[in-house]
Parts: sequence; C-alpha cells; structure tokens
Amino acid sequence: SYILEDQIDSVKGSVLNGNKEPNRVEKDRKLRKALPIYSYREKLLQAVKEHQVVIIVGETGSGKTTQIPQFLHEAGYTKHGMVACTQPRRIAAMSVAARVSKEMGVKLGHEVGYSIRFEDCTSEKTIIKYMTDGMLLREFLTEPDLGSYSVVIVDEAHERTLSTDVIFGLIKDLGRFRTDLKILISSATLDAEKFSNYFDLAPIFTIPGRQFPVEIHYAKAPEPDYVCAAMKMVLQIHLRQPPGDILVFLTGQEEIEVVDEKLRDLTRGLGTKIGELVICPIYANLPNELQAKVFEPTPEGARKVVLATNIAEASVTIDGIKYVVDPGFCKIKTYNPHTGMESLLVNRISKASAKQRAGRSGRTGPGKCFRLYTEYEYEHDLEDNAVPEMQRTNLANVVLTLKSLGIHDLVNFDFMEPPPSEALLQALEQLFALNALNVKGELTKTGRRMAELPLEPMLSKMVVASDKYKCSDEIITIAAMLSIGNSVFYRPKGKEVQADNARRNFNAGTFGDHLALLNVYNSWKWTSFSTQWCYENYIQVRSMRRARDIRDQLEALVKRAEIEITSNLNDLNAIRKAITSGFFLHAAKLQMHGSYRALRNHQTINIHPSSVLAQELPPRWVVFHNLVLTTREYMRQVTEINPKWLLDIAPHYYQLKDVDGPKTKKMPHSQGKSRISH
Ligand code: ADP
Ligand code: MG
Repeated sequence: SYILEDQIDSVKGSVLNGNKEPNRVEKDRKLRKALPIYSYREKLLQAVKEHQVVIIVGETGSGKTTQIPQFLHEAGYTKHGMVACTQPRRIAAMSVAARVSKEMGVKLGHEVGYSIRFEDCTSEKTIIKYMTDGMLLREFLTEPDLGSYSVVIVDEAHERTLSTDVIFGLIKDLGRFRTDLKILISSATLDAEKFSNYFDLAPIFTIPGRQFPVEIHYAKAPEPDYVCAAMKMVLQIHLRQPPGDILVFLTGQEEIEVVDEKLRDLTRGLGTKIGELVICPIYANLPNELQAKVFEPTPEGARKVVLATNIAEASVTIDGIKYVVDPGFCKIKTYNPHTGMESLLVNRISKASAKQRAGRSGRTGPGKCFRLYTEYEYEHDLEDNAVPEMQRTNLANVVLTLKSLGIHDLVNFDFMEPPPSEALLQALEQLFALNALNVKGELTKTGRRMAELPLEPMLSKMVVASDKYKCSDEIITIAAMLSIGNSVFYRPKGKEVQADNARRNFNAGTFGDHLALLNVYNSWKWTSFSTQWCYENYIQVRSMRRARDIRDQLEALVKRAEIEITSNLNDLNAIRKAITSGFFLHAAKLQMHGSYRALRNHQTINIHPSSVLAQELPPRWVVFHNLVLTTREYMRQVTEINPKWLLDIAPHYYQLKDVDGPKTKKMPHSQGKSRISH
C-alpha cells in the first residue's frame, strides 16, 4: 500500500546518511566490541596473513559479515585494493553495507558501498564493497583477475547458491595466479571440512558461538494450514508470553502480505489493555526505504513481530528476537531437466534450516521456537541438508557466463560438486537453440552480446534480437517491466472494480501482457513520470520507479553491447517478433478444451487468470514468460503470436509439422545431443 512520501524520506534519511552523532558512534563502538568475533581479531588477522585461503566458521550474529571487512581495512588490506564481501541476497548486501557505513561514520556509497543487480551504490572512494554473489560473478567478466580487489570474502558459503558455487571454482583458479589475493570463505555451519578440502586443506578458523538455550515446541498434530497456524501462534505468544520480539518464517511476499493484513485486523480488535504489536515485513522486493524499519528498536511496551522469508534465517540478524515461529516451509526454485521447465515450489525446509531458524531466538537470552510441525515430521520428513542450487536449477546462465570467460571444458571444470550432466546438457542445448552457441559449443556473436546483459538467457536473447527488429527501446522497457515481477498493478480491498477498470485501459490492442506492460510504462512516461497518475490508475508507483531505474541501467548496458536504441512503436509485430526470438522455447498452442499445450514438452498449461488474455477469446498460439504452479500450471505474462514466426525465427528448432496440422512436435533432441560438443 501507499506510504506518504515524507515518511519514506525520513526512513531513507536514517539509513542513507552515515550517522555522525558522537553518542551514537560511541554506542556502536561499544556494541562492536561486545560481538564474539572481537576477541578473535588479532588471531584472525594473523591467520589471514599466513594463509592465502582461510575458512571461517561462526554462528550467525557473531559479527562475521559486519566486522571482518572492517578488521581487514584497519589492518591495511584496503591500501592496494578493495575488500569484497559477497552475499547470496541483495537485501543482505544493502542492509549490511548500511550498517557498516554507520559503524564507520561514513556515508553509504562512499568508503562503504554495495553493488547489486541494477543498482551500484559505490564510488571511487569505496574500499569495502558488499555485493551479491551474482555481481561478483559478473565482475569476472569485466575484470577476470579481479585486479581492483585485495581480499574476496565469500560469505554465507553454506547457502551454496549457484553463483557462490561457480565463484568457488573461479576464485580457486585465480588464487594460483594472484598470490597476493586473500580469499576468505565464511560459513555459519560446522561442515567446513568440505570447503577446506576443496581449497587444498585451507585452515579452518572457528569463532565459538554465544548461544543461549532455546526451548523447542512442536505441534501436537500436523497442521493443514500453516499460514493460519502461524497467525494464531503469533497472537498466542503476544497474549501469553513475557516481553520479547517474534520472528515468523514465511515463504514469500504474497504470504507475508496476507499475514500482515490479517494480523493488523485481528490486533485492532484486542483493545487497549494489550500491548501494541508492531508488524515488520521483510522480503527481497520490499522497497529499500522500508527495510530499515525492521532494525529499528521496538518501542517501550510494544512487541515487534517480524514477518520474514528465508532472508532472516542466516543472512540478516535482527536483534531482540526471543520467539521464533517456524512453519517449516520455504520456496525453492526447482528445475525439471526432463521437461526443461523451472518453477518456484513451496517445499519443506531441511533439518539444518530448522536448527538455524530456532537458533535465531537465542541470541541475546534464552529463547523459544515454536515449530508448526510435529516431532515425527521433523525426524522423518525433513532432509538433513538442503540440496545445493547447482543440483536443481537451470544452468543456462552459468554456462553462458563460463563460456564467455573462455572456459569451454565444462565437464572438467573444478566444481566443488559437479552438476548433473543432464542439466549441463540441457543448458547447452538451450543456448544452442537461442543461437548463443554454435554447433561446436563455441560462443557466437549473439551469445557474447547476451552475456553482457545481466538477464536470464531468454530475456537477454529477446533484447539482442530487438536490434534486428529496430525496437530496442520498447524491448528494454518490456524487459525492465518483467524484471519487477507482478507488482505493477495495485488492487486495494473494496476498490477491486475501479482497479480492474483502470487496468483494462492498458490492454486494448496489445495482444497480451508484454505490450500491456509497455503501455503502462509509456503512459507513465508521457505524464513525465507522475506519481498522481499512478494513484489514479491503480499502478504501484514504487514498482514503476524501480522499473525506470532498471530500464536506465539496461539502456546503458545495451549500448555497451553495441545495440542501437531505436523505437518502433508503430510496428507491434516487430516487437512481438523480438519477444518470440527470446521465448520461442516457451511457445504453446491452444487445445480443444481451452487449455494449452507447451510445444517443447507437451505439458498441459493454462493462461494465468491475471493475464490480459484471460479476459478475451483465447488466441491459438502464444509465447509466455514463465510458469507458476498453484492449483494448476499457469503461464504468466503471455502474448499472442503468429505460428509462422516460429519457423522464421527458429528454423533449427521448429519444423512445419510443429506449427501446422494436428500432429505434435518431436523434439530434435537426439540430433542436438550428438552435434553439440561440451
Ligand atoms: P554474522 O555475519 O556473523 O551473522 P553480522 O556481522 O551480520 O553477524 O551481525 C553482527 C551484529 O551486527 C548483529 O548481531 C546485529 O546486532 C548487528 N547488525 C547487523 N546488521 C545490522 C543492521 N542492518 N542494522 C542493525 N544492526 C545490524
Ligand atoms: Mg553474516
């Protein structure tokens, strides 16, 4: 929902301006010294001096992320280069950078900055740079020897994200050439042996934790509806338990918004005798300005309840948490190499996650963790550890990155745990289909341009193809709008009809969602980016501003990839052909009963009810942006196409019989497999 502009500015001000009040700085210094890591400062610096690679293990909250870069700076490591510290999540990179700049009494973006996709908050002055692991990976593309860095800290290594796993391989190799580069691998879990073995038996530096006992409570019977159960639990804690803040783990933004709203409704009815419940959501797409709220001290007499995604499991530490509510679920990206489709699915967490979550309640005193599953479920249904992303995701992007780094022999690349060969093969096939690789598996000119853009391969192909169709201006806008997710339209309670009517104005003659999004953006642009216009049209102004920022960044990157910015707004077919050039692998054909069949794998799929096309006579042929699985498998962001385009654009992939007549497509799989080298 909308927040008053000046309210945002005041929150923003408190995060962005380094705090120079002497009392505050003094207080921060005391807090710093109280962190467990502080007494290990000298020993740690000694270990880094003596070894090129050091593995650091310490409980969450012990001060690894905020303090180690400062120690290294104080010890002089920033004299000849920056200290980089990677984070799997952008929100962690931002909030930690804000925190550290405050501790050092400098302005965020000056000496201490952060770099995340589409947002570079650093400057010439920057010496400590927090960044997402994905951004460090991209740094290898522009500066393969990481010459501007003297230290690289791969933080939260236990999360084993795709980018972190690839960085391991690259940095291990780089370390052999750059003997002056210090490499620190930091992890919150104790299975550091694996990292040590991989990095040629690098020493393990352990920071003993300071964990208070945590009482674990299990559900007596399995919970059919964990969202509802979580709300009930929060209220029970609030009414019956002594003071202390609550942390609730939910799976995503939508769930968090539902719980946020319901809890507000419920507590309103409690009357004034009960202390105030301050509700703070935190998730990846939460506007920067609002993230700070979660770290603010809880007002006297009130109780804070933090509604968080997995973000709060390890990468972000919120002080004052005494109660954890753990429903036992998280959302993970799952890739099915047989169908080539990726979807976000709600899954049970691992035992390791459950322990980590519980631990969050015992940082400043004894805590309590309420697991909304039974002890039997914990023992029997939870795996010991989560499967690393590398083992369960689409590797096309990683393969493209490695290829553009000149690494051709992917099968023998030094992965800590090699990905399944089937997934590697699928990635190569996808890149071949997109013309990013030639039959020998070498990068093509198209592929090289695609690799310059920080987008998934199908999106980057769409952008590169827009050059040919002279519509890069429009395609960049569409790519930016797709990148902000499903947060463009605003549909407040009680105003659904007005909101839907407003939305309909953008749909006419658009052939689907992509052009409708373009319409929204351009209409906003023509009002000179008016906030009022957004309000009137039920458009989320924050999301639009983010889209504008992303668009600006993309435009610069596209120019760098030597693509001219040209507008072709009168030729909607050209724009749709550019979209098809990126997404022809996501083509689908209407079936008798109103659902669709994916051409690639014959899967039955449907148009998502939120799509422009869900309101109209269903078109025979479409391409879609992605799939979501709820009650059914749905296509999100769908556009009508002419099937002939598939033949023109991807003659190596589709044949006449695929788009013509009743017979369905045979995948040119076997051909592809034997022809592509990898
Ligand atoms: P670790 O990396 O070992 O988990 P951190 O360095 O992230 O530990 O956190 C150390 C302490 O710094 C936390 O206990 C918390 O008090 C404080 N802290 C970290 N990030 C923030 C922030 N964004 N705002 C306020 N305090 C923070
Ligand atoms: Mg940390």
